[in-house]
Amino acid sequence: MGRTQVVIVGAGPAGLTLANLLHQAGVGCLLLERETRAFIEQRPRAGFIEEWAVRELERHGLAGRLLERAPQHGQFEFRFEGERHSFNYVELTGQRHFVYPQQELVKDLVAAYRGEVRFGVHDVTLHDLATEPFVTFTDDEGDHRIDCNFVAGCDGARGVTQAYVPAQIARHDYGIGWLALLAEAPPSADGVIFGIHPRGFAAHMARTPTVTRYYLQCSPTDTDADWSDERVWTELHARLTVTDGKIIEGPLIEKRVLDMHNYVLDRMSHERLFLAGESAHLVAPIGAKGMNLAVHDSLLLAEGFIAHYAGDDSTLDNYTAACLGRVWQYQEFSQWLSDIFHGSPDPFMNELSRARLRRLLGSRKAAESFAEIYIGQRADF
Ligand SMILES: Cc1cc2nc3c(=O)[nH]c(=O)nc-3n(C[C@H](O)[C@H](O)[C@H](O)COP(=O)(O)OP(=O)(O)OC[C@H]3O[C@@H](n4cnc5c(N)ncnc54)[C@H](O)[C@@H]3O)c2cc1C
Repeated sequence: MGRTQVVIVGAGPAGLTLANLLHQAGVGCLLLERETRAFIEQRPRAGFIEEWAVRELERHGLAGRLLERAPQHGQFEFRFEGERHSFNYVELTGQRHFVYPQQELVKDLVAAYRGEVRFGVHDVTLHDLATEPFVTFTDDEGDHRIDCNFVAGCDGARGVTQAYVPAQIARHDYGIGWLALLAEAPPSADGVIFGIHPRGFAAHMARTPTVTRYYLQCSPTDTDADWSDERVWTELHARLTVTDGKIIEGPLIEKRVLDMHNYVLDRMSHERLFLAGESAHLVAPIGAKGMNLAVHDSLLLAEGFIAHYAGDDSTLDNYTAACLGRVWQYQEFSQWLSDIFHGSPDPFMNELSRARLRRLLGSRKAAESFAEIYIGQRADF
């Protein structure tokens, strides 16, 4: 296949953002994706994008359809002990979430990318990363080799590139599962609802005018088969309904148990390989942070590669530190939220979580601090 400057493995939000930015800057790249284009354009996952990330995509001409179509959310509700407690973070920060299904963003980024891409590749293998890197892979047309200056590992939590980085992995298991659901039903409220309940946590999140995402805390050993539609709706009503806020039912089009865990590699590069997004760090979807982190890494990595070709390696040299600053802030936030959402079998710890929640709802300063990290910002933490 010849030579390019950067081979990008994985066409998720991280790989696609990076590919677009590099191509726009005139840096040659080849994007390799294991799945078909149709598959990645329909795979539902995230939905909440922080405003700073949207503005960065807009700055690079990548947010046109998103800005036209995505509703904006600036508040959410806690529901507990039968009451609704609204939390207005746009008032505190001036920043909003844009609600845009991940597959729609992926579709936009694939459509915008004018560089080379191969879908349906197998057996991606990296070679000679310390000297003259090259990547081999297979697709329907046969076996291929591409030489390059750098490899970007954007192949997510189950990819192959992470194994090439000799990193220490810090991992945390929450010891719970979340049943992730998509219902063909309109949202039951304007914003997100976090239901804190003795039967377990539940959440409601709009996706589109006709599709709503729900989560139910469950045992990590549960499978989809343990959750009949009837059981799902019974639990959602029990955990989320309050007298003046009902839940609208509809056919369940996705039902899968997520094993809630986090991990972070202590280094995101090795020789001429740089990782971005979930290949380097995973944060359970408690605070809707993973895709935002993936975009953040890619913005920094694109800046680093572009600067390299202009003769400056300082951004690449500082890449791990610049990414992990934000990653650890978001991990800490997710842990904090998890304590509030899931409670604890230990009554003492449970009361501490309640005390935190009361402080959050009762103190403007506590609310400002929470809101700042809930919505994030572009400036590094
Ligand atoms: C239910 C759920 C809800 C979520 N909600 C939110 C939210 O609201 N907000 C938020 O910010 N985040 C959310 N997240 C997290 C978000 O979806 C991920 O953080 C995001 O997809 C990470 O992007 P990525 O590009 O790093 O990895 P991925 O999206 O996983 O992309 C990696 C790509 O690499 C490809 N690949 C893998 N292996 C190979 C290989 N060997 N060769 C070639 N290609 C390969 C994969 O097919 C994939 O296309 C949610 C996640 C889940 C599961």
